[in-house]
Amino acid sequence: MANKSKAFTQELTALRQNFKNKLPGRVANLHNSWETLQTDWQPDILFECYREVHTLSGSSSTFGFVQIGEITKQLEKVIKSVTESDKQPNKEQSQQMIMLLNELKLAVETKNNIDLPQDEFVLSHQLDSCSPTTVKLSLTEEPPLIYLVEDEIDLATHISKQIETFGYSVNILTCASELLVAIAQKFPQAIIMDIILPEGEMAGPKMIEEIQQKYHQHIPLVFISAKDDLEARLAAIQVGGNAYMTKPINVSMLIERLDMLIKKTSDEPYRIFIVDDDAEIARHHAIILENAGMEVQTCIEPVNVLEKLRQFLPDFILMDIYMPKCTGNELTQVIRQLDVLPGIPIVYLSSEYAMDKQLNALLQGGDGFLTKPILANTLIRVVSYHVKRFRQLHSLMVRDSLTGLLNHSHILEQLNIEVGRANRTNTPLSFVMLDLDHFKQINDTYGHSIGDIVLKTLARFLKQRFRFTDYIGRCGGEEFAIILPNTDGLTAKKIIEISRDAFSQVSHQAQEQKFQITFSSGIAYYPKYLTAKRLIEAADAALYDSKNAGRNRVTLKTT
Ligand code: GH3
Ligand code: MG
Ligand code: MG
Repeated sequence: MANKSKAFTQELTALRQNFKNKLPGRVANLHNSWETLQTDWQPDILFECYREVHTLSGSSSTFGFVQIGEITKQLEKVIKSVTESDKQPNKEQSQQMIMLLNELKLAVETKNNIDLPQDEFVLSHQLDSCSPTTVKLSLTEEPPLIYLVEDEIDLATHISKQIETFGYSVNILTCASELLVAIAQKFPQAIIMDIILPEGEMAGPKMIEEIQQKYHQHIPLVFISAKDDLEARLAAIQVGGNAYMTKPINVSMLIERLDMLIKKTSDEPYRIFIVDDDAEIARHHAIILENAGMEVQTCIEPVNVLEKLRQFLPDFILMDIYMPKCTGNELTQVIRQLDVLPGIPIVYLSSEYAMDKQLNALLQGGDGFLTKPILANTLIRVVSYHVKRFRQLHSLMVRDSLTGLLNHSHILEQLNIEVGRANRTNTPLSFVMLDLDHFKQINDTYGHSIGDIVLKTLARFLKQRFRFTDYIGRCGGEEFAIILPNTDGLTAKKIIEISRDAFSQVSHQAQEQKFQITFSSGIAYYPKYLTAKRLIEAADAALYDSKNAGRNRVTLKTT
């Protein structure tokens, strides 16, 4: 972490230095252009000056060169008034231009101009504690640790066994003071806690209060209790309990709450695409977002934008407005017409202050407008907000509403993409189909809503078990599909066999009754079957074989 932060600071500083080194040359060019204009008036050259001054104004303020930012902003205004009049500058405008250009030259040459000092500049890019740093990836393979504080040891063991099947690691603690000791050694990712403990009637919430005073940190917290009175529920709320469940505990619901409370570390990093013709500015914003755990691609040549977008498939686009070959507005409209990125948030980042220009940009398909310079924290927050919303909306489109898995059409679409990739990279791929055994009987015996819970349970079970690069979908009814990229048939069979066995041991609950259910599976692999269509047919046939051979088994199609 320290190293990462050091690298971040170094890159920030290097970019700023690089910008500073180029400043004298850029200012000299402006002077030259102005001189040319005096003798040979060419609107194109003036427009180039306008663009350069505008860019300079945005970047110098971003890099903390306050004075240069101010002068260039004024220059921008003067040139704008000239371009708008569509005539050569009048005497007053010329004088202003010369004065400002000279001021600019002086500011660049003077060592003591009023820049933001280097350390303050770096400091202004540190993240504050409210920044959504949860987007940071911690791709540990370790299962999330849960402390279960429950003195009824049989109940604790039962809950713990079920939760562990879903990819959590559980430590059972039998009284409040054991929790205090455990927390001192290691923070868990969530606490499940009884209200009444050997220490007293309200020992659970009391201990949480003590821990919070000591550590000033909120750990996701679920209370479980036989008490259902207001006093107990209030005590739970007052110490920040995220959920309150009464006994007998519905373990499926408990796991669902845990899944929601603990942000899964396998969440893909936010993918951000920055379009800015100024390479240093693009990189500057990129490293701020990268430092917050996001994946960033920059594009400084709008000509390449479409191809890059198709390959990268970002969740968010940060768009500059003034660029040499086209404007950000125009580019936004082109992107909006693309099929590949429906609804992608596009937010402008520009030094354009004029409200009418900003409004225009928004009316042409932008989702927001930010002005340069922007604070690191603000940028991260705005980007995170848009990505979160976009991902939620996108997920409604591609996910099955009951299980949250990919829906039928999207899992098939993904299979096509993955077969293409397997082909290009010459790697294997397995396609798995699963179908619950005698599921109709579950509905008939316990009711449709219990059937739904079983479907959700299987979905969650699969999500917990598979890699973040695997794709899991619900093909409809009680049939599921899994794409395992880079996995040959025999390996896939082993993995599914282990899952089949583990799932058959999960105990489901309908009111007071417990029951178990199994699934059958069929697997086909690439390159044995070369197209998505053939993989599906072969996996389906293998599933049929599993059913015919007595169910609760896995068949790998080899013929
Ligand atoms: P087999 O082992 O041969 O697969 O037997 P089965 O009973 O699982 O298969 P069958 O295709 O005969 O029945 C599937 C049942 O799944 C029938 C249908 O009502 C039920 N089902 C389909 N979608 C849902 C759903 O969303 N929720 C619930 N609760 N049941 C569903
Ligand atoms: Mg079935
Ligand atoms: Mg069926």
